[in-house]
Amino acid sequence: MRRLPFIAGNWKMNKTVGEAVDLVRQLKGSISEVREVEVAVAPPFTALYAVFKEVEGSPIRLAAQNLFYEEKGAYTGEVSSLMLKAVGCHYVIIGHSERRQLFGETDEMVNRRIKAALGQGLKSIFCMGETLKEREEGKTFSVIERQMEGGLKNLGEKEFKNIVIAYEPVWAIGTGKTATPQQAEEVHRFIRERVAKLYSRETAEEVRIQYGGSVTPENIKGLMVQEDIDGALVGGASLKAETFLKIVRFKEM
Ligand code: PEP
Repeated sequence: MRRLPFIAGNWKMNKTVGEAVDLVRQLKGSISEVREVEVAVAPPFTALYAVFKEVEGSPIRLAAQNLFYEEKGAYTGEVSSLMLKAVGCHYVIIGHSERRQLFGETDEMVNRRIKAALGQGLKSIFCMGETLKEREEGKTFSVIERQMEGGLKNLGEKEFKNIVIAYEPVWAIGTGKTATPQQAEEVHRFIRERVAKLYSRETAEEVRIQYGGSVTPENIKGLMVQEDIDGALVGGASLKAETFLKIVRFKEM
């Protein structure tokens, strides 16, 4: 099965509006020339509209980094799926390990967020991954299984088709330690098999599974040749046009 590779840049809490516009302008021209790779950028909320104005009509998709599951109301500081849709988002990252670890997001909250995104026709980049301690204790697969089952609770197969999975081992995020292509592939395969069990073989073959965790221009190729790795969610290396473009152009290496 041929799945369209998907590279997304998670800018996290970086870039003022001006800096975000500068970066996306540097990306635009080159990314328009790249064929058969889908590309998204996830600026902070404050820069979404300005970046949307830059990417409108280009192949670059706009993603948000999070949302709150209620549509509107007295939720000071939160942003809803309705608002993200209105600002031009196509994707939203949900369940990033920084949200889980620093802001206490649970599998149940992740599930509610995915449902809220789907309700507005937003596609989710659903993140999962184990900590170093969990890996060392041999719990990687059980953690992934729990995160998948919790995050996908009561979601039908048709709804699942709007989800991209990002496997991000927590110990590899922002640490410079990448999972080896084999370590990543082993978990990606496991995730695909779980999707087959939860839904169907056909859906399992269709779902795109990104790898995330210290992806660089140097290691992207080795990851992308793995059968079950369909793209990357890139943090640090997405903050500079030069490095992000090299990752997007992995096929030319
Ligand atoms: C991320 O935040 O999703 C990520 C993978 O970060 P980094 O590439 O910096 O490890």
